[in-house]
Amino acid sequence: MSCRRPEVPDRNAHGLMQPRIPIATPKAARNGARVKANAVAPEGVYLPNNNVFTPAMRSPGYVQMSTAAAITLGIMKGMMHRCECTRCLNLLLTYPEGCRANCAYCGLARHREAERDYADRNFIRVDWPAVPLAQAIDIVARDGAKSPFHRMCISMITHPKSDADTVTVLRAWTDRIDPKTIPVSILSNPTTMEREDVERLHGLGADIFTVALDAATPELFDRTRGKGVQSPHSWKKYWDILMDAREVFGPRKFGAHIIVGMGETEHDVLSLVQRLVDLGGHSHLFCFFPEKGSLMDHLPATPRDQWRRVQLARYLIDYRGVRVEHMKFDGEGRVADYGLASAELEEIIDAGTAFRTSGCPGKFADDVSACDRPYGDSPPSDIASFPFAPNRGDIRKIRKQLRIVEERQRGPGTDTDVVEQRG
Ligand code: SF4
Repeated sequence: MSCRRPEVPDRNAHGLMQPRIPIATPKAARNGARVKANAVAPEGVYLPNNNVFTPAMRSPGYVQMSTAAAITLGIMKGMMHRCECTRCLNLLLTYPEGCRANCAYCGLARHREAERDYADRNFIRVDWPAVPLAQAIDIVARDGAKSPFHRMCISMITHPKSDADTVTVLRAWTDRIDPKTIPVSILSNPTTMEREDVERLHGLGADIFTVALDAATPELFDRTRGKGVQSPHSWKKYWDILMDAREVFGPRKFGAHIIVGMGETEHDVLSLVQRLVDLGGHSHLFCFFPEKGSLMDHLPATPRDQWRRVQLARYLIDYRGVRVEHMKFDGEGRVADYGLASAELEEIIDAGTAFRTSGCPGKFADDVSACDRPYGDSPPSDIASFPFAPNRGDIRKIRKQLRIVEERQRGPGTDTDVVEQRG
């Protein structure tokens, strides 16, 4: 099926997506100095609050979790738009010093220490309550087979204690919870890791190992996570650990996160998706969203048509055996043809799975992620990754965003017709 497009900007181009330069942090705020000086002892669950002294919480005793996970676990009250729960319990390591990296799109980045203590920072659009690890494990162990969680994910950050504490958290979990019942993923931090760390986590029962490449090209990686923002990460080190994970964890048990819309072309990101599939792994996509307080919060979210094209094409490569070489791209690297017969493509669009959140699988189906991250990459009013099966109204909207609705409803027309229809 061909996808005709109007002559309007419909992508986050490379020149536009330049992060701000981080400013230096005053010494009195560096390395969690405020939290350490106040030395407030934590008492149970801490709900992020920038108006009180942040308690000095530290992994492995404490971990943070997304608002969605905290609601699902029952330690926080709240409702989620059109979602009953999340299926992934993400446990984020936490320290007063926070993450020592400075990734430009990330709410946890080091440059924020002047403004906000680590445990109070927003991350993928939400607050992350801090919870005693033992309490989180107690609740999941108590719920047993009735637990709503299909997977647990330990999310590492860049900190000297992150490797050792990941091992401790994994051990504490598997001591009480059979990893066959609720498998464990590791969202790794390659900068501080060696191959032995990967082997140790596998030996202790971790099921899937992922690397957050986030940027789709080496140049964008350096601009958003490396020297461009005074951050310690390198593309090569990330790939070294990804290759170690491929050997240690094996096919279908490793993957990479990629953020779409940080200045790469659609061809760039889909070539990376293909490379991961050819290696035997998976890609987990996020739609770029300007996280408040990050070095990219002045930049636009990924236009929905760019995002939808990449989402659909990635699904075809990951689950339907289509190869990037079967697809056609225009002069700007945008998908112009998905390389699949029209009827088949229609069916896949209507099924809606391609537009759901991507991530490590849960218990429903191989192509349905446990990690549904409700509204982690968009507001509920303009959903990028659907944390549930899109309904018919959602599919109609998705078709409009893909700009292929008109062809189906009206038959072949002209580009001008498409522009006029968009309204
Ligand atoms: S390493 Fe991860 S947590 Fe730390 S700033 Fe980068 S993206 Fe954020």
